[in-house]
Amino acid sequence: MAKYDYDLFVIGAGSGGVRASRVAAAHGAKVAIAEEHKVGGTCVIRGCVPKKLLVYGAHFAEDLADARRFGWEVPETRFNWATLRDNVLTEVTRLEGLYSENLERHEVEIIKQRATVAGPHEIALADGRTVTAGRILVATGATPVVPDFPGAEHGITSNEVFHLDALPKRIVIAGGGYIANEFAGIFHEFGSKVTMVNRSDIILRGYEEALRDRLLQISITKGIDFKFNAAFEKIEKAEDGTLTAYLTGCDPIEADAVLFAIGRRPNTDGLGLENAGVRIDDKGAVVVDADNMSSCDSIHAVGDVTNRVQLTPVAIREGQAFADTIFGDNPTRVDYENIPSAVFSHPPLAGVGLTEGQARDRLGTVKTYTSDFRSMKNVLAGRNERSLYKLVVDGTTDEVVGLHMIGPDAPEILQAAAIAVKAKLKKADFDAVVALHPTMAEELVLMR
Ligand code: FAD
Repeated sequence: MAKYDYDLFVIGAGSGGVRASRVAAAHGAKVAIAEEHKVGGTCVIRGCVPKKLLVYGAHFAEDLADARRFGWEVPETRFNWATLRDNVLTEVTRLEGLYSENLERHEVEIIKQRATVAGPHEIALADGRTVTAGRILVATGATPVVPDFPGAEHGITSNEVFHLDALPKRIVIAGGGYIANEFAGIFHEFGSKVTMVNRSDIILRGYEEALRDRLLQISITKGIDFKFNAAFEKIEKAEDGTLTAYLTGCDPIEADAVLFAIGRRPNTDGLGLENAGVRIDDKGAVVVDADNMSSCDSIHAVGDVTNRVQLTPVAIREGQAFADTIFGDNPTRVDYENIPSAVFSHPPLAGVGLTEGQARDRLGTVKTYTSDFRSMKNVLAGRNERSLYKLVVDGTTDEVVGLHMIGPDAPEILQAAAIAVKAKLKKADFDAVVALHPTMAEELVLMR
């Protein structure tokens, strides 16, 4: 008789949980996974995937306008939100099915309900059952923070934004991070009047300063409004549905929707972790060691709930490392150095490695190389939007320690170039590569 019902019980079928359960099962473990919303988690259901599809949809606004300069006679165009929304949601449902099938193919039992921790080896299910497992993996992700002020309940978060009945003619977006900036670009391209409201005077904290400035300048030129150092006092809703946002130091702003994108809090509330002595930090994140083990040695955690790097590929790697280490007899740790990341704004930006500021704090001498240019396509289109690429180089070793780009296709180009940064190639190695002409990416090997 097995000591426990399962070798592994995973709470949360998102990026980290799905990978961990599939790999653990492939290593021969008996695995169950509980999901209270939809299999696929934030990324597939209400994060990266639907967002990126909206980004593609939004970009047509510029492509259609530019096409005329390239000889195309484009008849009057009109954007239909309901068509895009429904097509995106259909695609999300298709992916949800694929994720479930994949788990079932690996004989992972999917339990479609909320699960909480009842003890070091015990899990309580919402239907009242209790099951046991040799190991529990907490992969519950994070949830959007909703601020607390009068009328905040009239706002929405990224959870609801993909389901809007109608395109808001005017939208206020609270926050300065990547999600806020991405939705600002999306709604602006769709034709909404966008006002960004930020508590500080900085957007995209952590990204290279020159790129943040460039995005801000381009966004303002496009017509996105920014209110800096502004805090919400209240939101009032009129009978016709109009929202009025009252902010410190600004005139009231009328809008059809207010989107809060002010951060994401690890999903540990009410999870019962105290029943197993699992330590949580002051931000609500499960505290884990380099092997994803919590302060209770039968309970591990991966992904956003640990608040290390809240990105899908990181959650997937942590899930894989956990499963290989515990069930595959192959101890593996995630390397957190040089993780590339992107903001799918209009235009997008991306970076890997140290910013110039970080490099100057850490290294003796730093050299930077920049290319500030207008792409051929933008020149012919009459679009006055400049790209900016920046290489940050260790002046002592010549190693490229950071690469930052804003401009068309920056994330696509950066993913490939990140291999060179991760491999610790030198500036001389970049210079030795012959340019591929005419491309934007050739700037990477032409910076002198
Ligand atoms: P999640 O994917 O959030 O999965 C956790 C799952 O656990 C959820 O399905 C939840 O319903 C379930 N759950 C929670 N509690 C319980 C419980 N008690 N019982 C049962 N089930 C439970 N990352 C990128 O890398 N690139 C991007 O472009 C990107 N864009 C994003 C855009 C938006 C709008 C958002 C919100 C996020 C974006 N992210 C992006 C972040 C990415 O989605 C997360 O980093 C990733 O999903 C984390 O994976 P996870 O496995 O930790 O958690």
